[in-house]
Amino acid sequence: MPIEDQIPPKELVELVIHCEDNDIDLIISVDSNAHHNLWGCKVNNKRGVTDSPLCRACMEVDETPTHVVLECTGVAEQRERHLGSPTSFHEALGNLGGLLGFWSELGWLE
Ligand SMILES: [Zn+2]
Repeated sequence: MPIEDQIPPKELVELVIHCEDNDIDLIISVDSNAHHNLWGCKVNNKRGVTDSPLCRACMEVDETPTHVVLECTGVAEQRERHLGSPTSFHEALGNLGGLLGFWSELGWLE
């Protein structure tokens, strides 16, 4: 999200309206705290700059929410402590408190 633009951006608002009008489920996930020149920030921070798409915990596969929440062996202990053993991403989303605790313990919310 360009820092000088309105928040939420017009495109996001239009997407939400489109989904509501067409009865389409929508999950929005953003890292709105990443600073990078690419989207107009004057400085880059480590959230906006990455050398690799690989998972920070295991460095074996791309770091996707599904990988981290369901599969990553590098965060298995933390996942078990906060989420148990979810069998689907949908199941994990049903435990928002657990998800927040999980991401918070990983320090990946900053
Ligand atoms: Zn991993």
